[in-house]
Amino acid sequence: MGEEKKFPIIEIFGPVLEGEGEMVGTQTMFIRTGGCNSRCVWCDTLYAVLPSLVKKNGTMMDTSEILVKLVELSPICRTVTISGGNPCIHELGNLVHTLKECGYTVLVETQGDPYRAWLTDCDIVTLSPKPPSSGEKTNLKALDQCVNSIEDECLSMKIVVFDNVDYEYAMMIRERYRSAGITSWFLQPGTTRAIDLDVFNEPQQSAIDQYRSIILDRTKEVIEMVIADPRAADFRVMPQLHALIFGDVRGV
Ligand code: SF4
Repeated sequence: MGEEKKFPIIEIFGPVLEGEGEMVGTQTMFIRTGGCNSRCVWCDTLYAVLPSLVKKNGTMMDTSEILVKLVELSPICRTVTISGGNPCIHELGNLVHTLKECGYTVLVETQGDPYRAWLTDCDIVTLSPKPPSSGEKTNLKALDQCVNSIEDECLSMKIVVFDNVDYEYAMMIRERYRSAGITSWFLQPGTTRAIDLDVFNEPQQSAIDQYRSIILDRTKEVIEMVIADPRAADFRVMPQLHALIFGDVRGV
């Protein structure tokens, strides 16, 4: 393992249950990188996005230090999820290569902008282009490059849906890649941040109950849309499992 640049790592934790996408419900270790080139209005990981918070919360780590931490936390779990922020703002080729050499199954979640060649070495790449409610504009060129470069069987597309406009955006993305052969398509009912709910003065259990009920109501709405729409026949509807079980907390 040669000398390499260090990356801002916000947190490494686990094993936890993967709460989203293709591997939902399986045990995984979690690496959260710091920094993101987007600023989604409903971002639930601002502590890993805003430069001042990344500076405050992050630790600069290289591949060896990350591996030591993973093994220290669990000598057994050999699945790792890399998320952010946006992991694709970093050159993580050496990290992914080393994790694979050590026997890890590597999952990554990114909006797919910018494209990085190391994505093709990951076992599952969840591309999560951000819908209009995020306030962000999708870089379709970068997304095309991801879809064209990553093997279909390693690729999942996940789109967050807060409203009808987001839903139509998801259908547009589905249509754009209809001939691409991606087998996994997810619609994820948007999860409102606890900070945006007026629940801080309530007892903790009541806050979590409200949070769950919002997620479940939104999930029901998205299921109803999908069932009534032949364009959405390929989509699986899945709320964030960890948010539903634990609420809006870190490290779960
Ligand atoms: S892309 Fe993800 S991490 Fe970045 S601002 Fe949007 S929700 Fe937050």
